[in-house]
Amino acid sequence: MTSIPLQVRPERVGQRREGVRLLLPRVHQCTFCSYSTTNAGHLKRHLYKHTGEKPYRCPYCNYSCTHDSNLKAHIRVHTGEKPYTCDQCPYRATQKGTLLAHLIKHKQPSS
Ligand SMILES: [Zn+2]
Ligand SMILES: [Zn+2]
Ligand SMILES: [Zn+2]
Repeated sequence: MTSIPLQVRPERVGQRREGVRLLLPRVHQCTFCSYSTTNAGHLKRHLYKHTGEKPYRCPYCNYSCTHDSNLKAHIRVHTGEKPYTCDQCPYRATQKGTLLAHLIKHKQPSS
């Protein structure tokens, strides 16, 4: 009779290869997609896209958003504040984008 020695085979449980790891410090990689940034705050804000979390909430209505500057722009709708003024006419706007859209009218030759 031949005795077969017991071979202890260590089980490989959940050994995952994470592929090539970028050894760049200060690069914050999103765990959901390929987004990466050097700014930790930017990644945190980016993650809200995946989690659906909207931490900035309007105190006047149920509006909520992922960015504090978006909320500030939104709150002007309630306060009526129009900080963006046209330098060529009395036009005022609550949002920068609105003013920029207005300024294009001035740039176009009116003939
Ligand atoms: Zn992402
Ligand atoms: Zn609101
Ligand atoms: Zn104007």
